Amino acid sequence: MKHSLDILPLSSWVETDGKPFIIAGPCSAETEEQVVSTAHLLANTGKVHVLRAGIWKPRTRPGEFEGIGSVGLQWLNRAKEETGLLTATEVATAKHVEEALAAGIDILWIGARSTANPFTVQEIADALQGVDVPVIVKNPVNPDLSLWIGALERINRAGIKKLAAIHRGFSSFEKTAFRNEPMWDIAIQLKTIAPELPIINDPSHICGNRELIPYVTQKAMDMDMQGLIVESHIDPSVAWTDAKQQVTPAALAELLDNLSIRKPESNNPGFEDKLAEFRNQIDQLDDQIIKQIGDRMKIAEKIGEFKRDNDVTILQVNRWDEIVQKRVKLGAALSLGEEFMKKYLELLHNESIRKQNEIMNIKPVAEA
Ligand code: PEP
Ligand code: MN
Repeated sequence: MKHSLDILPLSSWVETDGKPFIIAGPCSAETEEQVVSTAHLLANTGKVHVLRAGIWKPRTRPGEFEGIGSVGLQWLNRAKEETGLLTATEVATAKHVEEALAAGIDILWIGARSTANPFTVQEIADALQGVDVPVIVKNPVNPDLSLWIGALERINRAGIKKLAAIHRGFSSFEKTAFRNEPMWDIAIQLKTIAPELPIINDPSHICGNRELIPYVTQKAMDMDMQGLIVESHIDPSVAWTDAKQQVTPAALAELLDNLSIRKPESNNPGFEDKLAEFRNQIDQLDDQIIKQIGDRMKIAEKIGEFKRDNDVTILQVNRWDEIVQKRVKLGAALSLGEEFMKKYLELLHNESIRKQNEIMNIKPVAEA
């Protein structure tokens, strides 16, 4: 997949001194006191660059707290004046953009529900035409990389070059420990397609609870993401929205202290040579594995011809069950995860069935 993004580096809109870019603050602005006092505690950690707070909240069901509205913009401004933190809020309509800009909010973000709707994103993009403000685009609620890139492109085409993405996980039918499945591979694909685009991880909306946050933040750092947006409330137990996933500013400071920040490159002079040697070994093994898969497929083709000539069905469930059981056991003995083994075998099986199907349905020349 290609993209047409023209982006300025993160350092052109925020100074982080080589450290991860940290946005933190309550899910929702609730009262002036709550916003301002949370901001002070966050600023005092010395680790936070931007104060976030939702002013207009996209709620799944009507009747829940839908955000304090425009008055909250002034609370953010007071917090900024008193602490020096930059400010960020979510915009979902042209009117939100106009009000946030008029109030002088420093950074705008587009929420996951909005990113999923190209009409909404275009409306926001049109309102941003000719404006120089950083915009961060959350991934859409559904796991669709094109929709995410499309939203970034729409904002970029309006002239916004200070652009970043937020990885906040994806809604999935299957319920797991996460509120939103991280599906790291989608964020990695975005990073591969647009390496110059900063990606910020949102562990709060991925986890939906406080307990998993340290694990997700560490993983985000190890995936070389540029920063974090974490929901932090002065007293999470009484938060009006997303109470279970918010952390106190003190807990946030501890979380950030405990992160191991590894660099993508090393200063060690022998590092590159050693890495090249390991990569060479991997390349050779990959070549061997692919060749062996090719050899395996050739035998599967022979079996296909044999089954065709003897009028036997392609799929023989017992044999397949036996293969899966034995191989998963072997995999476990070699420390390969069960899910990985099952997925790998399934892919292998599908390809082998596709080939056998091709062979069995080629009519012999005489009948053609
Ligand atoms: C939020 O950041 O509070 C929010 C509503 O997030 P999302 O758009 O990721 O659901
Ligand atoms: Mn929230």
